Amino acid sequence: MSRWHLACDACDAAAWVGPGATGLDAWCESCQSAHGLPLGASADAACPDCGVQLSTGAPRFMELHGELQSIAGVLAAWTGDRDHRAENLPAAESGGAGALAAGLLGSLAREPFLRSPPAAPLAAAVLRAAQSVADHQPEPALREVRALMERGDVRRCRVPCARCGRGSIGVDGVEEGEAAE
Ligand SMILES: [Zn+2]
Ligand SMILES: [Zn+2]
Repeated sequence: MSRWHLACDACDAAAWVGPGATGLDAWCESCQSAHGLPLGASADAACPDCGVQLSTGAPRFMELHGELQSIAGVLAAWTGDRDHRAENLPAAESGGAGALAAGLLGSLAREPFLRSPPAAPLAAAVLRAAQSVADHQPEPALREVRALMERGDVRRCRVPCARCGRGSIGVDGVEEGEAAE
């Protein structure tokens, strides 16, 4: 089992996530707070402060850039369909890309790491993209998603730091645990 070390690049916010010698180090990606759980604690333990599921393994926010990439791919295909095939595009096919993009954006919007206060601009951009998708407007949705991917913190798989509001939190080290017997 691996342990991840999280740290802010601007303040002293830092935490371990993963199983340690005496317990399980958990991280709330919404509050950006560390919580010590007993070894063998349920993997779906909730944050005592906000109620979201705590991360006890690889932090979810590390997936943000990859998820945006997938969504951008769907949206780009959708705009391409419109450009090249215009009115001939069967409604069902266009609806398929829209439904897929809506589903991906919907699950992204529910991610705990987008609920932390300094991530509000990211969450707002995701909601704007979802609204454009709901309005069958893939172009503005794609612009929102690409703008998010261009952010310096998101590109480096980091999210804004809740403690200082200036820096960003990211994984600065992974410790590989002893192989289980
Ligand atoms: Zn910070
Ligand atoms: Zn929390």
